[in-house]
Amino acid sequence: MPVLRMAELPWTELAALERERSVALLPVGAIEAHGPHLPLGTDCVIAEAMAAAAAERLDRRGLTALVLPALAYTAAPFAAAFPGTVSLSAATVTALLVEVGQSLAAAGLPLLAIANAHFDPTHVHALRTAVEELGREGKIAVAFPDLTRRALAARLTDEFQSGACHAGRYEGSLVLASRPDLVREDVRRKLPPHPISLTAAMREGKTTFAEAGGPEAYFGDPAAASREEGEATLDALAAILEEAVLAELDKMRF
Ligand SMILES: [Zn+2]
Repeated sequence: MPVLRMAELPWTELAALERERSVALLPVGAIEAHGPHLPLGTDCVIAEAMAAAAAERLDRRGLTALVLPALAYTAAPFAAAFPGTVSLSAATVTALLVEVGQSLAAAGLPLLAIANAHFDPTHVHALRTAVEELGREGKIAVAFPDLTRRALAARLTDEFQSGACHAGRYEGSLVLASRPDLVREDVRRKLPPHPISLTAAMREGKTTFAEAGGPEAYFGDPAAASREEGEATLDALAAILEEAVLAELDKMRF
């Protein structure tokens, strides 16, 4: 069954769905610099692929999975100095997500699943705050597998876990697997590795990619990216999101 994309349906078809057995999947990305070889919308590309792959898994379980348009505008202060990056305040991002959740709840959708592919700490914190607020309101359940948590990160690649996880092998592979037409291959293949951990840089108080030692807005090893690795990672991401949804459904039943 093809993935249902909510924005492509007339409202009448949405209203006719078995909404109590549905899951709304929200891809969350960013518009931010991703090296000289990947598009500004890299995180949106990855989040959309993750949501679509999870939707297929959930459909196979008899649920109605609806993929929402990606949330593309968010907080991206680490990349803010690079042309093309769009960065909003954390408070705006939290309000946006809370109000999207409230609207979906009002439409009778019981569960929102967040497919997040952007890891700027300001952004992740804004998401966590929104999820807590929606939880307190209790109008819609939220599945938010936070990939920055160690237990989930451990299911992803070595580069991701090393913290050199911006526009390198990890993200490059995912874009090669989902939108290869957007990768500047001639540039990517020649980029030297840049194995600097953003996680460590953040701990040291660095607040921009340039301060962290990434003057071209990439970290890790872009030249080592491959479509095969991207497909395997996409499968892992989809499984993580599916599990988070099933865990929320379990809680709703009891
Ligand atoms: Zn990214």
